Amino acid sequence: MYNQGPRQMFDVDLSCAKCGTHISQLPFQPSGDRPVFCQDCNRANRDQRDGVRPQKRMFDVDVKCAGCGTHITQLPFEPKAGSDIFCRECYLKNKDN
Ligand SMILES: [Zn+2]
Ligand SMILES: [Zn+2]
Repeated sequence: MYNQGPRQMFDVDLSCAKCGTHISQLPFQPSGDRPVFCQDCNRANRDQRDGVRPQKRMFDVDVKCAGCGTHITQLPFEPKAGSDIFCRECYLKNKDN
């Protein structure tokens, strides 16, 4: 027996299921019924699982809550001029009524 290196690689002839990159080697034997991804896509998949989510877009504002007067610096939507803006707490309170 001879040592091929720290990790055995399997020679394959596949395409990445996501980006189509040709894959010629894998660190595992492909089962055939599961999609195979290239290194880059594998890493991207892992990042997504780990909770690297795209952040919800926030708008920087400088307004006062029409209910309690709290200073509001960020909103999840673009405020319309002339309309009342409520802080989160007042917004939820209003919704309950
Ligand atoms: Zn890929
Ligand atoms: Zn308020």
